[in-house]
Formats: sequence, C-alpha cells, structure tokens
Amino acid sequence: MIKLAEGKTKIIEVEDKDSTIVTITSKDDLTAGDGARRLELPGKGAASNETTSSVFQLLNREGVPTHYLHWESLKRFSARRARQIPIEVVIRGQAEGSYLQRHPEVSKGIEFDEPVVEFYLKDDARHDPLMVWDTERRVWLLFDAHQPVSNGPIGELTDVLENVPTDPAAIEKMIAVARKVFIILRKAWAKKGCRLKDLKIEFGYDWEIGGLKVTDVIDNDSWRVESEKEELSKQRFRDMTWPLSEEDKTVILQLYRRVAKLARDFPVIDLD
Ligand code: 5GP
Repeated sequence: MIKLAEGKTKIIEVEDKDSTIVTITSKDDLTAGDGARRLELPGKGAASNETTSSVFQLLNREGVPTHYLHWESLKRFSARRARQIPIEVVIRGQAEGSYLQRHPEVSKGIEFDEPVVEFYLKDDARHDPLMVWDTERRVWLLFDAHQPVSNGPIGELTDVLENVPTDPAAIEKMIAVARKVFIILRKAWAKKGCRLKDLKIEFGYDWEIGGLKVTDVIDNDSWRVESEKEELSKQRFRDMTWPLSEEDKTVILQLYRRVAKLARDFPVIDLD
C-alpha cells in the first residue's frame, strides 16, 4: 500500500499510484487542542470506523453524494479517491462552542430557525479562520474563529488555493448538501432519542469523474450529540480535566462504543 496522507486520527492509502479507490484507517488516537492533548485508546479506531461506515451508508441510502464504498475491516473502509477541498464545513442547529466566542451576545443552546452553515479554512499557520464569502467583491473574507465577528475580518484569501471554490454556484451547492446531511443525521439521532447539536464535514471532488462529494470521515469526533442525560461525543473528552484518569478513559471508550452501536441501525429517514 502507498500512504497518501496521515492525519492525527486516520491514514489514507492506495494500492497503487493510479488507483481510484482509497482505504481509510481510523487510528486509536484521540486528540484535542490542536494535538496538545493526545491519548491512545485501544478500541477507539474500531468504534470510529463503525460509526463513520454507518453514517455514510445512511447518507448513500438517502441519495447524498459521498465518497464511501464499503466497510473493509475493523478499523478500515474503502472510498472513491478525491481531491480534498481544504475547508471544514460546520453545520449548527444551535449555538455551541466557538460560535459563542464569535457571537458573545447569543445565549448557549439557542436553537436556529435554519441550520447555520459555516466554512473554516484548514490552514494551521492562520489558525483555521472562519471564511465568509463576500458576494459583491467575490472574495473570501477571513475572521478569527475565536474572536467576535464584530471585530471585523483579519484578512482576505488572496492566494489561489487548490480546490477552494470561488464560484458562487459551487459554494451554494456545498451549503445545500451540508444542510441536507445535517437534517438527515439530526433526524436519525432524534429517532434514537438524542439531539445532534452541530456537525463538521468535508468535501472533495471525485478524482476520476470530478463530482462534488462528502468525503473524509463522519464519526464521534465530528459532532456534538446529546442523549437525554449526557453529551456522548468527543466534546466529553474536550471537557475533561487533563490528564485523564483510568476511569475517565473507560468512560470515553464506552461512549464511542455506545455511539457506534446506536449508529449501527440508523433508520431510513423521511425528509418530508
Ligand atoms: P466548534 O467550532 O464549535 O468548536 O465546533 C463545531 C463542530 O465541529 C463540533 O461538532 C466539533 O466537534 C466539530 N469540529 C470542529 N473542529 C473540528 C476538527 O478539527 N475535527 C473534527 N473531527 N471535528 C471538528
């Protein structure tokens, strides 16, 4: 196998350099704070792979274009190869997390009438700024993701970045698909008695045929989701005191396994 990329929590490989299919392996690592906190939790990779496979199988059944092909083994699935768009697309049903830092006037937990869709540039040097499309000037404005937006932009995206859309129709398409993904998953979680608060997804263009697809992984690291009693997602890990006790580690692994089990039989969703 040839390694195409290795991130904090996954490895992307191809069998040969021209292959149109990749395999994505979830690692047992859990990270937070830009990798400042790192924990190896045996069993986490398998739970993440099961969750991401169940989520993509649901999205494929619902007609969302995704890169996902098959569950391959405990920690690995196969997908269509893609040219990744270096943007994190966040969809929010309610005000949580960094949204509250950018909008300090908004109370935590306030529900939005329509899911809010945001774009963040994946750029470590610029600390993953929020991107806002200026429709008049046709340029991406960049905002500090952790400061009030009322402070104004910190700059513009002047460099031409590969695969970053600057065509309003392409941007609108990403927003529409992102909303649909969120609505499907929010309904699926609601049927399990849980609330999906927000979600991060990524997009790419099919390497061979070029269509826009939901790519990467969608697992328990990608969202905030709450049962009637407690937060079930990686947010629990972010909120724990560092370093974690053995008891905390067990709690986290159990949550990842519970989420994988709940996602296993996500029902078909009626979008009407
Ligand atoms: P926030 O911007 O409020 O910190 O995060 C919004 C949503 O996006 C949350 O569900 C969070 O889990 C997800 N998210 C934000 N950044 C990342 C990231 O770098 N990786 C992953 N997997 N999810 C992220």
